[in-house]
Amino acid sequence: MRLRITGGAVHDPANGVDGDIRDICVENGRIVESLPPDAPKLDARGMVVMPGGVDVHSHFASSSCNHARRLIPDEHTADPVAPPELLDGEPLPRSGSGGTVPSTFTTGYRYAGLGYTTAFDAAVAPLMARHSHAELDDTPCVDGGIFVLMGNDEYLLRQIQAGERDRARDYAAWLLGATGGYAIKVVNPGGVEAWKTGQRNVTGLDDSVGGRATPRAIVEVLADAANALQLPHPVHIHCNNLGIPGNAATTLATMDALAGRRAHLTHLQFHCYGGEPGKGWSSGASQVMEYVNAHRELSVDVGQVMFGPAVTITADAPVEYLLYKSSGRRWTNIDIELETGCGIVPLVYKDKAAVAALQWAIGLEIFLLSADPWRVVLSTDHPNGGSFLSYPDVIRLLMDRSFRDQRLMQVNPKLLAGSALADGLAREYTLNEIAIVTRAGPARLLGLKQKGHLGPGADADVTIYSRDPDIAKMFSTPRYVVKGGVVVVEEGQLRRTPAGGRLRVTPQYDDAILADLRRHFSAYSTVSFDNYPVRDLPGTPA
Ligand SMILES: [Zn+2]
Repeated sequence: MRLRITGGAVHDPANGVDGDIRDICVENGRIVESLPPDAPKLDARGMVVMPGGVDVHSHFASSSCNHARRLIPDEHTADPVAPPELLDGEPLPRSGSGGTVPSTFTTGYRYAGLGYTTAFDAAVAPLMARHSHAELDDTPCVDGGIFVLMGNDEYLLRQIQAGERDRARDYAAWLLGATGGYAIKVVNPGGVEAWKTGQRNVTGLDDSVGGRATPRAIVEVLADAANALQLPHPVHIHCNNLGIPGNAATTLATMDALAGRRAHLTHLQFHCYGGEPGKGWSSGASQVMEYVNAHRELSVDVGQVMFGPAVTITADAPVEYLLYKSSGRRWTNIDIELETGCGIVPLVYKDKAAVAALQWAIGLEIFLLSADPWRVVLSTDHPNGGSFLSYPDVIRLLMDRSFRDQRLMQVNPKLLAGSALADGLAREYTLNEIAIVTRAGPARLLGLKQKGHLGPGADADVTIYSRDPDIAKMFSTPRYVVKGGVVVVEEGQLRRTPAGGRLRVTPQYDDAILADLRRHFSAYSTVSFDNYPVRDLPGTPA
């Protein structure tokens, strides 16, 4: 129950600690000020100590991930995973399959092996929340939570059409509690509903969604709801026009529409393109980052693209149709009745492909042009831009300019004219900045007061790296990982697999909404109102 981690160089930016040699004391799963001298010790001399990693945006526990797994059996054959050799008395170790969308247990094992101890699945259809919680139950070693899709929801659109914005807020609150969700997610506001009803898509913030609402109204209502409900994380927005040349203008218009409201824009890289549809692509990162830097109420995660295999998994069904048409790859597209959609297309990002090279460069530009690492945090939108296993390679690109410039020489330069990266960005991230973008920053943006830092009272989630001149190697194989005070990785090997906790909220709402919701469910839903909420979730809501 006690452990003193001694002599490591501690990087704990939330508490202003930048590589100081000090001890970290752990008792009963929490960080404490001090311990008696006879407490067991873990010798971290010469090593780097950070809080456990926090993934603000990933896709690893959902019915859409399961559809993706079905779509890539070849990856499973290519990457069979033997059960880890756990210590006696541990839960039964599980075999599994790897690839870009690993099976549940393997996902937990691999996150822990990477030094990540908290992760959020960023896109869960409310109706499928039960499935996500079942997957999280089988994803050990990480505390997990889900973001609930609301930007194309039938009941919400009805409230907006009727001008009932307070009721829309009450609905968002009820839905978060009913699904065991943590945050409000908006994907292509209005566009998925347009796709499902034959309108194909929306392209601007003031386009009509079947005469009922506009993307602007959806974004305003849900941003206001998250803020009025004082949710720990603000509205989490995937903008309109993902992946389309010229979409930087849409992204800027969305940020403008937020008009000072607190909000998080996700996988910004996929929304930072200059150029025009049909006429070509360029980087729009400089303009967008100028705006982000000047607006403290906004935060983003990058959605870095890494060369290699990936699977696009998104509620943005019309985008997946375009991707299928342009790639010719296998695909699936699913309507989730009153709520949202879902599409999946596996693909490979090649450094010799001009668009992939531009996407890679734009992600790095977002990182390197960021004035505030606390608001611009690391993601690959796993597995959309690449697996979470590629995070160490992203870190190397950020910390080592000569390596980055070398890589830049190898990629297709066709679309890189005018890109800030091609013009030369000298910045190299420090270890403390890496600690910010991979744990302290995401924890703060998520409102997780006990995560992302090593001060007294924090959860004892600690990652200890052996120094290595190869930065990617250092970050891919931590020497020790402590999760909730339990040493899960020892000498680089997974040894213990405690169950993860569940991170969720149950905001208050006016229960006058319940009678109307019951009517709505009995008129339109395939699920009865009383059977809809998820039950018996572990843990206590935030
Ligand atoms: Zn995503």
